[in-house]
Amino acid sequence: MFFINPMFLLFIAPAVLLSLVAQWMVRSAYERMSRVRAPASGYEAARRILDANGLRDVDIEQVPGKMSDHYDPGAKVLRLSSEVYRGYSMAAVGIAAHEAGHALQDAKRYAPLVVRNLAVPAASFGSGIGTLMLFVGMLMVFTVLAPLGKIVFLAGIVAFGATVAFQLINLPVEFDASSRAKIQLVNLGIVSGPELPYVSKVLNAAALTYVAATLHSIMTLAYYVLYFMQATSRN
Ligand SMILES: [Zn+2]
Repeated sequence: MFFINPMFLLFIAPAVLLSLVAQWMVRSAYERMSRVRAPASGYEAARRILDANGLRDVDIEQVPGKMSDHYDPGAKVLRLSSEVYRGYSMAAVGIAAHEAGHALQDAKRYAPLVVRNLAVPAASFGSGIGTLMLFVGMLMVFTVLAPLGKIVFLAGIVAFGATVAFQLINLPVEFDASSRAKIQLVNLGIVSGPELPYVSKVLNAAALTYVAATLHSIMTLAYYVLYFMQATSRN
């Protein structure tokens, strides 16, 4: 049957494996670097970075959850998980500085971030509706409604492709936020040069999870495209 197609497993297995490795790495780096002390809390680090760059109007809020940290460009608010907000550790200042890095990108109208923000509605629409259309289209190609099924399936590929494009645009945004974070932490004396690898461990592991998720989507899309080509060449 199509839904337990071994070809599909073959396609996504490497990406799933990489995702699991990346998730393990980010958790392990976070735990280890949470025990390496920093001279500032995540909140203090982010506040100092924002203030030093003329972003006093960007608020910092504490939010529940673990690794729920994010910057909200609409509200111009930086939201940090309690552990990061209160934590005096390399993990906390690293993650807080990364999120502050997104605020700096926003203030400087960093082009990939602008494009990413524009793509957010298309991406969230595409992942939900796209997956549904792919599934419905797949079922329909086995019925008398096959011609319509192909159109639905193709539309699903396009919608799903939009989310893949979004993830690709997001990669430079994430890498850039981390490099801004490291520069700011050192320049403001929050982290010394020799301590920088501690921060990098957490940020690099986090970046790998984005790479793995993107690879997963690319391989899923490639599978659907091949599936579509096979289905249409059959008749
Ligand atoms: Zn980020």
